Amino acid sequence: MTPYDDSPAQAVSTAPRTTGPSLIDGFGRAVTYLRVSVTDRCDLRCVYCMAEHMTFLPKAEVLTLEELDRLASTFVGLGVRKLRLTGGEPLVRKGFIDLVARLSRHLSSGALDELTLTTNGSQLERYASDLARHGVKRINVSLDTLKPALFRALTRGGDVTRVIAGIDAAQAAGMTVKINAVALKHDNAGEIPALIQWAHGRGCDITLIETMPLGEVDQDRTDQFLSLQDVRRDLSSFWTLTDIPDSTGGPARYVHVAETGGRLGLITPLSNHFCDTCNRVRLTCTGTLHTCLGRDDASDLRAVIRRGASDAELVDAIHLAIGAKPKGHDFQIAAAQPAVARHMSTTGG
Ligand code: SAM
Ligand code: SF4
Repeated sequence: MTPYDDSPAQAVSTAPRTTGPSLIDGFGRAVTYLRVSVTDRCDLRCVYCMAEHMTFLPKAEVLTLEELDRLASTFVGLGVRKLRLTGGEPLVRKGFIDLVARLSRHLSSGALDELTLTTNGSQLERYASDLARHGVKRINVSLDTLKPALFRALTRGGDVTRVIAGIDAAQAAGMTVKINAVALKHDNAGEIPALIQWAHGRGCDITLIETMPLGEVDQDRTDQFLSLQDVRRDLSSFWTLTDIPDSTGGPARYVHVAETGGRLGLITPLSNHFCDTCNRVRLTCTGTLHTCLGRDDASDLRAVIRRGASDAELVDAIHLAIGAKPKGHDFQIAAAQPAVARHMSTTGG
């Protein structure tokens, strides 16, 4: 079997159709982490993520808060221990805090270890204390540059001071903040050491992300791509980086930076494969379950619930989808076309 052979080790049809406590895919990986995109909309237009003029989904296609709750809660019932809410920008979804409040019952019951979100931070100042009150302890805030003009250009209009105010508010509310920064060859490459120092200086981990070929945007991705292996080599020329053993089951590899005293994550989906230990699946805001970020596989759970499926039928549909989770992805930055057609804002990163 080649590394990217995606025929499951056991045939899907032989997978037990049970309502058992855990979701095990055809390659023996337990799915314990669900990311849920709650909206495809956003108040920013990051150049690597969206086109300048996006057509967003009609409301009827987007799951209601009740549907989002039902789907996410069903996964929790099947053994998912970590839920990450994302988007689009989750904090622009009307009623988002109500959804967090509802989902927090799984924290109280002990069924869920962590309820978290990934946000661009632009509305965080307003919502930080609500999030903390409902049990959100850690959040990821995306921030690619501290320079106001560059931030405005990269996000097509965003205000970096609002993001920093959001981070301040989140920390003041007691939440741990991790910064996510996409590494861009021509835009922030030279600023990466300063960004790391800034994050570590305020007690935040920071993770660098390689650009991924997802969805059509207005730029040439091969031109933006910056290999994090090269970034790591550069950083190692003046800092002492020590590997931290991986425990996330995800694409990030962590190093400790002796000089700044903080943790640096490197997400390298293009130059490294992390598929063997992948424990996660993604649900879009339209109820499509993607079991692999880099593949076009999809199961329509919205259709299942909107035709009036019972809880048992929904569980069966989820087991069927998980049983077919591909073995691995096959991103190629050199390809002229995106590896998959959907935007990061629909799957939620
Ligand atoms: N709006 C929120 C935010 O920006 O954090 C959540 C959704 S956003 C799609 C999630 C993450 O995906 C962000 O950290 C963003 O930088 C990253 N992202 C978006 N498009 C990307 C791409 N083409 N390659 C790599 N990362 C990308
Ligand atoms: Fe919006 Fe996040 Fe995409 Fe930027 S990366 S356009 S903030 S969804």
